[in-house]
Amino acid sequence: MKVIVKKIGEKALELEEYITASQWDMDSEDIHFLDNIFIKCRFVRKKGEINVDVSLRFVRDIRCSRCLEWNKVESHDNFLLIYKDSEIKQGVLEVDADIREKILLDWPLKPLCKPDCRGICPGCGRNLNREKCICNSSSRVSLLR
Ligand SMILES: [Zn+2]
Ligand SMILES: [Zn+2]
Repeated sequence: MKVIVKKIGEKALELEEYITASQWDMDSEDIHFLDNIFIKCRFVRKKGEINVDVSLRFVRDIRCSRCLEWNKVESHDNFLLIYKDSEIKQGVLEVDADIREKILLDWPLKPLCKPDCRGICPGCGRNLNREKCICNSSSRVSLLR
């Protein structure tokens, strides 16, 4: 999203935009963006700087780091970006790179499908959220013999 700084006056300027997620190239092995990223920015002029109140909404397919199941997760984010007048080049303020960076900073490192996900049993490989471990059952014992 780009805005001509002159257009930001005393009154806040609000802009909305949808970004195609693939354009920002953020997918990782375990996290894929779905649909578009919705961005709403509220630009306010302050003395010597521009404050941008950013709201984001996006949906991602996230693989749980414990049970490896994929889940569709909708996220919301809200934060403030501050630009000094001296940082703004040629009267045009571009916020995309900073918004992208913020999303990457908040990247889930060990995402879970739910806080108490029980994961996969290392012995029998069953998803313990849905199935019972069979490590101690007779079928498993016969395999070991
Ligand atoms: Zn899980
Ligand atoms: Zn087991």
